[in-house]
Amino acid sequence: MSEESRVERFLYMISCFRTRLKRAIRVDPVLDWLPSLSAEERERVRAAALQWGQVEAAELLLRAVERRPRDCFPEFLLALERGGCGLAASYVNPSLSQLPSPAEEADNDLCVHLVQLLHGTLVDNMRTMQVAEKCLQMDIFQVEDLERIQTVTESRGNRDGARELLSRIVQKKNWFSPFLIALRKTQHEDLADDLSGNTGESDVSVGDGSVSNVNENLEQSSSTTSDSDEDEVESRASPEPELILRDYQMEVAKPALNGENVIICLPTGSGKTRVAVYITKDHLDKKRRASEPGKVIVLVNKVPLVEQHLRKEFHPFLKRWYQVIGLSGDSRLKISFPEVVRRNDVIISTAQILGNSLLNATEEDEEGVRLSDFTLIIIDECHHTQKEGVYNNIMRHYLKEKMKNGKLAKENRPLIPQPQILGLTASPGVGGATSSLKAEEHILKICANLDARRIMTVEEHASQLRNQVKEPYKKTVVADDKRRDPFREKIIEIMTDIQNYCQLHPKSEFGTQPYEQWVIREERKAAKEEKRKERVCAEHLKKYNDALQINDIIRMVDAYDHLRNFYKEEKSKKTIASDDEDEPAVSKQDETDEFLIGLFYAKKKQLKELARKPEYENETLTKLRNTLMEEFTKTNEPRGIIFTKTRQSAFALLQWIKDNPKFEEVGIKAHYLIGAGHNSETKPMTQNEQREVISKFRDGSVNLLIATTVAEEGLDIEECNIVIRYGLVTNETAMVQARGRARADESTYALVASSDSGAVEREDVNSFREQMMYKAIQRVQKMPQKEYLNKIQTFQLQSIMEKRMKAKRDQCKTYKKNPSLIKFLCKNCHKLICSGEDIQVIENMHHVSVKKDFQSLYHTRENKTLQDKHADYQTNGEIICKDCGQAWGNMMVHRGLDLPCLKIKNFVVVFEDKKTTKQIFKKWGELPVRFPVFDYAGHCPSSDED
Ligand SMILES: [Zn+2]
Repeated sequence: MSEESRVERFLYMISCFRTRLKRAIRVDPVLDWLPSLSAEERERVRAAALQWGQVEAAELLLRAVERRPRDCFPEFLLALERGGCGLAASYVNPSLSQLPSPAEEADNDLCVHLVQLLHGTLVDNMRTMQVAEKCLQMDIFQVEDLERIQTVTESRGNRDGARELLSRIVQKKNWFSPFLIALRKTQHEDLADDLSGNTGESDVSVGDGSVSNVNENLEQSSSTTSDSDEDEVESRASPEPELILRDYQMEVAKPALNGENVIICLPTGSGKTRVAVYITKDHLDKKRRASEPGKVIVLVNKVPLVEQHLRKEFHPFLKRWYQVIGLSGDSRLKISFPEVVRRNDVIISTAQILGNSLLNATEEDEEGVRLSDFTLIIIDECHHTQKEGVYNNIMRHYLKEKMKNGKLAKENRPLIPQPQILGLTASPGVGGATSSLKAEEHILKICANLDARRIMTVEEHASQLRNQVKEPYKKTVVADDKRRDPFREKIIEIMTDIQNYCQLHPKSEFGTQPYEQWVIREERKAAKEEKRKERVCAEHLKKYNDALQINDIIRMVDAYDHLRNFYKEEKSKKTIASDDEDEPAVSKQDETDEFLIGLFYAKKKQLKELARKPEYENETLTKLRNTLMEEFTKTNEPRGIIFTKTRQSAFALLQWIKDNPKFEEVGIKAHYLIGAGHNSETKPMTQNEQREVISKFRDGSVNLLIATTVAEEGLDIEECNIVIRYGLVTNETAMVQARGRARADESTYALVASSDSGAVEREDVNSFREQMMYKAIQRVQKMPQKEYLNKIQTFQLQSIMEKRMKAKRDQCKTYKKNPSLIKFLCKNCHKLICSGEDIQVIENMHHVSVKKDFQSLYHTRENKTLQDKHADYQTNGEIICKDCGQAWGNMMVHRGLDLPCLKIKNFVVVFEDKKTTKQIFKKWGELPVRFPVFDYAGHCPSSDED
């Protein structure tokens, strides 16, 4: 391999295994061996480690290495080894000789998980220094590790020392067996037993949920290895769990075990995924016995679910017999998806990957997979199999083949083999139905889309299920808010001034959703018509409307900060230092900017004063505080989630909790948990950050999550005894799921909302819909089979027709426009910035401009508001128009390249067809043209070096 390709492989390995690398690196000792990094870079990494922890620091370190791969490789590789990070080193070695296989990786993950489960016992009982010294003798630890553990133990005690030891040991390569030996040799037989499962009993209490299989692992292994000798026990670090279903699980699984297509409806916490594992194994076993090919794909709708299902359910139970692999859009594969499918028996994947591959298979020269490559398809959270969702598009492939088979059968020709379909859901919902007939239709449609012969709920063993899944105590806390709100009045006064200034007059009330929709429409209309004054005013009115909404549910000061930050940004954006540093900063404010910015600063002091007056504070918030205080003092180990609507309100609520010392006194340790998507104005959390928060919640260092809807579905969150929906009501499925979070004994599910928000009424509607849903399911279940199948078939035909119509429309769209006829203008100053030919796409979502000298058109700046607020230092700068300060998008780092990534909503799109038209789009996908995939090789040349 040439030096060049080794460096490229090195970078590729980093990008593939980033998550794991970050978990396995301890930056301090590694930095000692990296002379190529500048003192400054080193300092930054060290500072990050102190402030944010090892994982974040490792991210900075990786970025520094990626910036200068030629200098840092192979130095980095050596540094990892010398710095005691052998596991990390094995992941970046371009020779691949050390790379752990997926099976080894999963085993390691399981061992790490075991240590997590037994963390409390280990910390309580381990004589840290003895174990650490033994680990050093056995070459698992380096001197550095020992010294650090010693320092911690001496200064903060044995327990903290033990924590330090455990955090270090799991980062080593092949650490588990030697660690067990070290424990035994230092007279910690009991701990080693617990970890290896050498006893029938362990004192870790875990509920049934998905965690329990690890516990079962232990017990199962004990029966097989208890009388073998010690060394053998140690060599078998990851034992086989036993796969057994409870009666109610077996009841709903039966038709699927007979090969029928079914939907299984089981509430959250009842072991839905375990049923799927059982059916998978049964299916593959039968195929194997019959010497027929068998292959199962498990489709999920959220990336974290891939790892979760793999690690906790499918892998531990099936690995002994079958090849199981997990794939998500995250993992950039070395081998293609069709190849992965060929090599494995069970594939857990995001639906998108299969969806894309099916499309490829229909295009002649592309390699793809076909549905007939599988014998069983399992669809998790299958209530999403509707409309244009990716699940439904996959199922439409299936339905088409089914119909084709109908024809082939008549002609006595061989049929296309079709997989069995299994849908899983906690609640299929009623799709917004208000009548029982519509609810029934919704259920039937979901059944039709999944080609289900029946929908299964627990009947016979309902009492067992009820014991398993305890219904939480439900209460509604209403804030009857009739106080005066001078802060609100002040904001409305300002908004009225702006409306008069730009002559825009809404029909809806201030601070409402309809107002927000109106103002967004006005902004787009004005942008298209190049009416700058109206556009800018609409943009600012939106911010004031936000502030009113924030004021309704959170503190006045949060609403005030929202405005203050916005105007601070505006002011600085519109005063741009030129590239030449000697030139003075120039103000880019025009008359409208001056009016708006002037108006805010004229009222700023009054707003600030009002925001400080506690007598005007929000009643809903008081109710939330009381509810939290009450619930957190009621139980021994309180653990709660507050669901709220926006990311911003999640941040603001956290700040509110931090600002109130009373919360700390009752032991509340809060953190926010928000989505990873980029579709909001607020910065997302990375999947890693999400995972970290969840693991802190699990180990108790965080006991209150403030979450947006991201946590409602599927994410593996520990049982809670307090679930609060704060002014937020969505639909009946979300309600069932949120309530499903409250699973601990004596748990509470509370809705806290103001009386005029309508939330209480909507929650009632949801309860009503939930009842309606259960009745509708029952009616569908009782329907005569012939009638049921007839109805289903009609809906299936309908679904395919709808798709055909849409495909036709899309086709017209895709080919109608030629990229060179499209021009992009800055939304604010209408400067031409590039054409459709300059746009390329990364990972099917990020649109970057590859125009030559594009950087001469924009400035980059750090997004200061976000930084101040959320203390996240990912400094992918914001790109703003050099001429007018309008935001355009962000810089993104893609495999070591800095690229300007554009947000389409910031541009006016001009189509220069026969007649020129202008439009504003919210999403790139709405444009009637598709752009080519980013040409990495074409942009990689050495000319770009710094
Ligand atoms: Zn501009």
